[in-house]
Amino acid sequence: MHHASGTLYIVSAPSGAGKTSLVKALLEQVDSLHVSVSHTTRAQRPGEIDGVNYHFTERERFLAQVEQGDFLEHAEVFGNLYGTAQSTVEKTLAEGVDLILEIDWQGAQQVRKKLPYACSIFILPPSREALRERLDQRGQDAAEVIDQRMAQATEEMRHYTEYDYVVINDDFNTALDDLQAILRAGRLQRTGQQTRQSSLIGALLSD
Ligand code: 5GP
Repeated sequence: MHHASGTLYIVSAPSGAGKTSLVKALLEQVDSLHVSVSHTTRAQRPGEIDGVNYHFTERERFLAQVEQGDFLEHAEVFGNLYGTAQSTVEKTLAEGVDLILEIDWQGAQQVRKKLPYACSIFILPPSREALRERLDQRGQDAAEVIDQRMAQATEEMRHYTEYDYVVINDDFNTALDDLQAILRAGRLQRTGQQTRQSSLIGALLSD
């Protein structure tokens, strides 16, 4: 968790669990916290901004960056490539800023291997029914399309056992509070406090 002085957080969830909205609200409430902007080969959706939601890129360019070792982690999710730039992660943490990676379970496994102190959080929906409703994006998708999204979500949820924390997103504000509590406890860990509070601790221990 304490690479230089910032803490690295991994947040995963099945799509439809409300992960992106929760992370966005968290960023507004917690200072010294950034979210990593991933690189992806998937098509830009209406309303998405290049460089803000994702760095949209071509498959060929992405694979060249993989070759160069530019990514801390990368994975194929539903036919598209996604990756986290190593340099951004290093730079942010070195500045003492905490960083959230919104990535899938495959990416989470790779990050844990490289940075075992990363703190990982899995967000679950309150029920299958609620998830199904949230996955029926336009309220008019074909049943088979929703079934397929449910199967993908279930696949992702099976990996919850690999995470340090589990947050249920039933009531949005409660889930947001839970996330804040995890971050707050993270910042109170002795290893980090030892660095941040070094002058206080030094003064307290001198006689
Ligand atoms: P979406 O295309 O709906 O924005 O995201 C689809 C999935 O890709 C989500 O589960 C999301 O967490 C995951 N994802 C987004 N960025 C990254 C990344 O940089 N690395 C990995 N491994 N997964 C990512």
